[in-house]
Amino acid sequence: MTIRDCKPGQSGRILSVGGEGALRQHFLDMGVIPGAAFTVVKLAPMGDPMELRIHGYELTLRLQDAEKIQAELINAPTDEAGEEQRQRESFHPGLGEEGKFHPKGTGDPLPETETLTFALVGNQNSGKTTLFNQLTGSNQHVGNFPGVTVDRKDGVIRGYPKTLITDLPGIYSMSPYSSEELVSRDFVLQQKPRAIINIVDATNIQRNLYLTVQLLEMGVPMVVALNMMDEMRGNGGSVDVNAMEAMLGVPVVPISAAKNQGVDELVKHAIHIARYQEKPLRQDFCGAEDAGGAVHRCLHAVVHLIEDHAARVGLPVRFAASKLIEGDELILKQLDLDENEKEMLEHIKLQLEKERGLDPSAAMADMRFAFIEKVCGQCVRKPRETREHLRSQKLDRILTGKYTALPVFIGIMALVFYLTFAVIGAWLQELLELGVEWLSGVVDGALTAGNVNAAIHSLIIDGIFEGVGSVLSFLPIIVVMFFFLSLLEDSGYIARVAFFMDKLLRKIGLSGRSIVPMLIGFGCTVPAVMSTRTLPSERDRKMTILLTPFMSCSAKLPIYAFFVSAFFAKAGWLVMTGLYLLGILIAILVALLFKNTLFKGEAVPFVMELPNYRLPSPRSVLQLLWEKAKDFLQRAFSVILIATIVVWFLQSFDLHFNLVADSHDSILALVAGWIAPLFSPLGLGDWRIATSLISGFMAKESVVSVLEILFADGIAGALSTLSAGCLLVFSLLYTPCVAAIASIRRELGRGWAVGVVLWQCGIAWLAALLLRLLGLALGWG
Ligand code: GDP
Ligand code: MG
Repeated sequence: MTIRDCKPGQSGRILSVGGEGALRQHFLDMGVIPGAAFTVVKLAPMGDPMELRIHGYELTLRLQDAEKIQAELINAPTDEAGEEQRQRESFHPGLGEEGKFHPKGTGDPLPETETLTFALVGNQNSGKTTLFNQLTGSNQHVGNFPGVTVDRKDGVIRGYPKTLITDLPGIYSMSPYSSEELVSRDFVLQQKPRAIINIVDATNIQRNLYLTVQLLEMGVPMVVALNMMDEMRGNGGSVDVNAMEAMLGVPVVPISAAKNQGVDELVKHAIHIARYQEKPLRQDFCGAEDAGGAVHRCLHAVVHLIEDHAARVGLPVRFAASKLIEGDELILKQLDLDENEKEMLEHIKLQLEKERGLDPSAAMADMRFAFIEKVCGQCVRKPRETREHLRSQKLDRILTGKYTALPVFIGIMALVFYLTFAVIGAWLQELLELGVEWLSGVVDGALTAGNVNAAIHSLIIDGIFEGVGSVLSFLPIIVVMFFFLSLLEDSGYIARVAFFMDKLLRKIGLSGRSIVPMLIGFGCTVPAVMSTRTLPSERDRKMTILLTPFMSCSAKLPIYAFFVSAFFAKAGWLVMTGLYLLGILIAILVALLFKNTLFKGEAVPFVMELPNYRLPSPRSVLQLLWEKAKDFLQRAFSVILIATIVVWFLQSFDLHFNLVADSHDSILALVAGWIAPLFSPLGLGDWRIATSLISGFMAKESVVSVLEILFADGIAGALSTLSAGCLLVFSLLYTPCVAAIASIRRELGRGWAVGVVLWQCGIAWLAALLLRLLGLALGWG
């Protein structure tokens, strides 16, 4: 039988893991290895994916993937071993003394002037961001990893000016499965940080140590930060830190990042170990007696085989050997083995397979988990059932319950939108608008009093204050939106949403996690695009970014309201709802198109950890908000400022650079006059409409303000009802505003950004034309 055949509540043992390549490696890395015991927790409300408990944590698995994993039923795993450990008292964990791995006063420290570089590596949700914020205070800046758009944060450790710590993306293994894993691996191998700070979630220690074991293989000086110790101790668990240090061969420091306990001690150890370049004392986890010693012999044979190659290309040999055994193509290429050696490698692997009865990847994963079991057995006194886990189970009964999941989700999203756009955000936005208006008034007065040149006056007031000011007024909404999102994300709820929406989204070629950006897209495309960074697969991320602009953003509401009151007063809500639905419909069609053309690729398996629900620390949340605000302000005062000035310029001057009295004579009108014929087939050939649509590129709201100025006698007489409908459809679908395009550019690069503009204008034009033809055929308008 396979895992798929197991019913919720049933337990089993894994017999073999099917599938191949990176996908299979990912299963193994997540602890789905032959011999592991698991319990099926539940199926998602729509019947797919399923939730498993394995190695003491919760994991999602699609049925399609579960089918590939053979298993046998067993009785629920008893916790006798744990019970016995709980009986045994372990002495108070000593905190490891400075210089433990290196006698004080000897050795060859790096000079004081050298900057010590650290990499912060750990699983997702292990508390990396929290620790990073504790370590750096606000001395940090955010950048991008070259080549891959993954957020990279650097900062200086507080109180130690000659340090630089980099927060790497949360990863589960050093296999090149996701772009994050590749980025982190390359960072450690190529940037060669002086030391690694490996953060380990003590409440989920088996899962987390899997990465630790692989990091140790790299032979880089390392400190293990055992995080969440407050939760661990609070539930009666403890860790014999001294014993663990002895087994891992690196300092282990128990901390609580959220409560700022043990962090100073961690820093001291990290600095010491980096300064003295103390390598891990142990890189070898394969015992000669373990499971017949097959893995041990295989690994050491490969180490000998590739020793000189690894040294030549500067790879840690032990790490390179394990990856070769796991069939890592990238490392194989890098090592440049000759034919003979490659053949020998294959023979060694074959021998392993024969002796161990497992294929090489599974045997490696099994070896690592066996070592981890040994470490945990000797050093960890597990808490009974943690309060946090019990609480999570209770919450999940409702939040991912069969009948409650969807309604609760809709309720929560509605509340978030309501609070953001109607209550808190709107209130703050009004406040900011008043402030900008007041400032604009003051400056206006000052300029008038100072008798400043009319053109400059107009630039400052009508250009900069109008343009940048109107964009600036979105800051509160964006910050409030991110506040709620980070609450949802950090608390662990988003992972659940992805879990129960996965089945629906797979039908259009996306995975569960894409739902979040789409939802935010109804508010504003800018934060929506930014939030796609949390998506694990590059393909999903691209596709999601390209689809979010179809979700009608809130800035288009004024346009709808304007036309509805002028043309469709009787069926207002119908037109409004219709527009929103049309956006979603087109997004689905486009997604299907993408799925079958541009983004064929195979569906990424949805193997995701479901962490316990936790309240994020206020400090992390505040820091995130500050970052987002800063990001936004920077953009407002660069891209948007420049674009604003250009549009103002075109609107205010004629070709001889004379200030025009009537915008009809401006360069903008001239240019719009060229573009206007493009809109004739849609019945929108008036240059003023072209102008308003162009200004809508700046900010959608300005479509309305421009129309209002240019059609002084009201729009109702100037357009037919059908044309108004076409204009609405066009406004719904055409190019996102500058801010959104800028963020798409930031995520995907210039080519895609230009592509989005052209492609969306094309779709909008076609859709509007279709409506017009349909309308004419039916005799409307
Ligand atoms: P990351 O995904 O590794 O960056 O993890 P985060 O820093 O976002 O933390 C994940 C969650 O764990 C957040 O809700 C934190 O508030 C929480 N957390 C982090 N450190 C601790 C800790 O030491 N104790 C407890 N109880 N919670 C923590
Ligand atoms: Mg984080």
